Amino acid sequence: MTTRSSYPLAGKRVWVAGHRGMAGAALVRRLQREDCRLLTVSRAEVDLRRQAAVEAWMDQARPQAVFVCAATVGGILANSTRPAEFLYDNLAIASNVIHAAHRSGVEKLLFLGSSCIYPRLAAQPMTEEALLTGPLEPTNEWYAVAKIAGIKLCQAYRRQHGCDFISAMPTNLFGPGDNYDLQQGHVAAAMQVKVHRARQTGASQIEIWGSGTPRREFLYVDDLADALVFMMKHYSDEPHLNVGTGVDISIRELAELVARVAGFEGGFVYDASKPDGMPRKVMNVERLAALGWRAPTPLEDGFRASYEWYVRNAAAAR
Ligand code: GDP
Repeated sequence: MTTRSSYPLAGKRVWVAGHRGMAGAALVRRLQREDCRLLTVSRAEVDLRRQAAVEAWMDQARPQAVFVCAATVGGILANSTRPAEFLYDNLAIASNVIHAAHRSGVEKLLFLGSSCIYPRLAAQPMTEEALLTGPLEPTNEWYAVAKIAGIKLCQAYRRQHGCDFISAMPTNLFGPGDNYDLQQGHVAAAMQVKVHRARQTGASQIEIWGSGTPRREFLYVDDLADALVFMMKHYSDEPHLNVGTGVDISIRELAELVARVAGFEGGFVYDASKPDGMPRKVMNVERLAALGWRAPTPLEDGFRASYEWYVRNAAAAR
């Protein structure tokens, strides 16, 4: 049984590392509703892969609470074509920020992982206990190994130094600020781009990678931000916690959902030369639910808001 703790954010100096990313930006929006002092630093000022730069920034900014949202991220193709970056960047970010947080006496830190840390053939829905029980999915093992190291760092600093460092494992995210590059991004963003382009060009078909049968769970990024604030305030323990909806849909169903939201009435074709990746990925979210948090936004509402944002902002900027 996980017990609720209390760490109020009011009046605290709170650093969101990675505030320009999709998750970090949502967290910045969410933290505006907390009475805290938000700290951010640009990549040009502090490269989080450089230990000395991170330590100097921490010494000077002295955050009390830290959210580690910074990461080199990407979809199935980016992960398998840029393995060195996915492993090195994410290992360096995790170890630099977590160690510097310990060194400068940060009161509480939340490290953001990913559901791809779980074994390829983990029983579904995946519980937190599935971690390190089997081989990883090869298309994203580089990223996964770095994120597993981040969780272990939080646990090790908690055990050895008594640091209040926790980890959250979000499922596949979507929403404002996603990566809309078709080669680098994830499927949720790709579907929005493809549907929008098809509507603009009058194309009758959209291409879907793989077979369309893999199943994924999708969480609206503003719901993730809400969960992270909830965990920062109410969770203080060694095990990482899953953050998701606990509900999955097939890639084909996702395409149909985005098409419905966008008003695209054409069909789909499948490109079998592209990988399917994990056959199914859905989280068991009971532990977080037992603490009192569940995702509030229905999937279709999330995709509607997300698609509107994309059309107004990202698509318009191209
Ligand atoms: P994953 O969850 O780590 O596998 O990463 P993705 O979100 O990139 O891919 C999820 C699933 O969607 C995989 O089975 C992909 O092959 C499939 N998919 C279908 N169409 C696309 C697309 O246009 N882009 C991406 N990234 N994935 C797609």
